[in-house]
Amino acid sequence: MQNVTIDEAVYSRVNTIINGFSNTIDFTGTIYKQCELNHIRPKCSECKKHMHINKKRIINLRDSSDVLHLYMNSYEYYIYKCDICGKISTEKIPDRVPGRMYTKNYQVEALVTLSGFGITLKKAAELLHTNQKMLKEIHKAYLTRKGGELLPKHPDGSTRYSNGILIDEFKLHDDRSFCTMILDYDTSKLLYLEQGRGKAQVHNFHKYIGDDFFKKLKFVSCDMSATYPYAFNEINPKTEIVYDLFHLRQAYNEKVLNLSRKEQKRKVEKLVVNLELKVKELTARLNNNEFKQREGKIKEKRAILAQIRDLKEQLNKLSNIRLALMSNKETLALRDKVAHDKNTAKRNKYKSQGLPIPPDLEYYKENYVESVEAVCTANSKIKIVYELGEELWKILDIRNDEKELIKQLKIWMERASVAHIRQLTLFVKMLKKRWKGIISRSKYHVSSGKIEGLNCWIKNRRRLAYGFADFEYFALIIWDYTHTRKQNSKKRENYYSQDSHKKKIPKHITQAKPTIFQKHRNWRGLEIEARG
Ligand SMILES: [Zn+2]
Repeated sequence: MQNVTIDEAVYSRVNTIINGFSNTIDFTGTIYKQCELNHIRPKCSECKKHMHINKKRIINLRDSSDVLHLYMNSYEYYIYKCDICGKISTEKIPDRVPGRMYTKNYQVEALVTLSGFGITLKKAAELLHTNQKMLKEIHKAYLTRKGGELLPKHPDGSTRYSNGILIDEFKLHDDRSFCTMILDYDTSKLLYLEQGRGKAQVHNFHKYIGDDFFKKLKFVSCDMSATYPYAFNEINPKTEIVYDLFHLRQAYNEKVLNLSRKEQKRKVEKLVVNLELKVKELTARLNNNEFKQREGKIKEKRAILAQIRDLKEQLNKLSNIRLALMSNKETLALRDKVAHDKNTAKRNKYKSQGLPIPPDLEYYKENYVESVEAVCTANSKIKIVYELGEELWKILDIRNDEKELIKQLKIWMERASVAHIRQLTLFVKMLKKRWKGIISRSKYHVSSGKIEGLNCWIKNRRRLAYGFADFEYFALIIWDYTHTRKQNSKKRENYYSQDSHKKKIPKHITQAKPTIFQKHRNWRGLEIEARG
C-alpha cells in the first residue's frame, strides 16, 4: 500500500494540474493512482487477425484504504473491434475482481478486516470507505466458497459420522423467532442450523444428513425441553438422550431453591406487616391514655419493635443469599478463603510500607459459608432443600455405574418426597418424567458447555449487529466460527478449586505504575506519619 500524506497529496494534485502527473486527490480524501495496462492488441477468435482500438474507457477501482484515505486505481482500458467481422473484445484488467468495482487487493483487505477482530459490518465499512452491502457481498462470497455445501466434515476427513451431537436453540431477531443448531460433540463444529425450534427441525436434519448418520449416532445432549428428545426418539429409539447437568441444576436452583426462598421471604414479610400494624395500634392507644398499666404496654411495644428489627435483618439476609445458595458449600468455603487471602494481602501492602490502612479500602466479601448457614438455621425448609440439592449433584456425578446411580437416585427421590415441600415434589415428578435422559449420564458423561459457549458468542454478535437480517449470511458466519476457531485442548482449571489464583503473576502486571490517586494517598499517608 502506498503511503501518501496530505502534503504529498496536495503536491501531487498541483503536479497533476501543471504536468499531468500520475496521482490525484479529490475533496473526499480519495487518492487516485494512475495505473498502466499493457494494451496488447488481441487477435480475433474467428478471423485470427489483430483487432483495432475502437474506444478508450477509464475505470476507477477501489484498491486499499487507511483511516484517512481511500486509494483508487485508475485504469485506462481499451475496447477492441475486429474490422472484418465486427466482433468486440474488452481489455482485461488483471487486478480486478471480475464484474466488481474493486481490486483483488481490496478484497483481501476487506476479508482481513472482517476476520479476526469481532468487528461489525458497519464499522468495517467505515474503515474501508465503502458501504455495508459491498462488504457483506465480499464476505458472503468468501464464506460460501470456504464452506462449500456446508456438509459436516471431521478433522480426519474420512468419516461423516458423529458419536454424539449437541442440540440447542437461540433467539434470532425478537422473542418469537428462534433457531435450532446442532453441533458435533467431539469437534464442536456446526453440523446444522435452521430457523424454528421444534420437531420439524430435527426431522429436517435427519433428511439432510441421512439415515446412516443416525444409525451410528450414540447420544444427543440437550437441555430440559421435551420437543427435541421426542423427535430423536421418533427417528431412532436407540439414540440415547442425555440431559445436561447444568440445565438440571438450573432447574433445581430456579424452581426449588429460589421459589422456596421467595416463599419464606413472603412469610416473613407478612409477619412484619402484621407486627407493624400492632405497633401502630398500640401507639395510638398509648397516645389516648387508654391503658391503666402504661409502663407494661410501653415495654410490650419495645419488644415488638425489636422483633421487627430482627425480622427485617432476616429478610435482608434472605434477599442477599440468592446467588450463594446456588453454589456448593465447598466452593463457597474456597471462595471465602481466597477472599480472606486477598484481603490480608491488601492490608499487608499498607502495613509493609508503614502506611495507615485507608478507611475506604474495599474488601472482598468473605463470609459466604457463614451467611448460608445462618439462613439455613433460621429456615428449616431452605436447609432441607439446600442440603438435598448438594447431595443430588454428588449422586449425578457417579460415572460408569448405572445400577449405583439408579439406587442412589431412588433413595434421594424417596427422601425428597417425604419432606412434603411442594417445589421438591414437583421436581421429583419432573425427574421421573425424564428418567431415561438422566440415567444415561452415567454412561455418557457429557456436558453441553460447548454449545452454551457458542450460544453466548452468538448473543454477543447479534447484539453487535442489532440482529442479522440476512439469515444465510448469519449461518455462514456461525459455521465459519465453529470451523476455524482454535480447539482448546487444555481444560481450563476451576479458579477456586485448583489453587490457580496462587500462581505467580508476571512482574510487569504487579508493578503497575501508581495512578495519581494512589500517589496522592501515599503522599498523605507519609505526611501523617511524619507528623505522628
Ligand atoms: Zn473477426
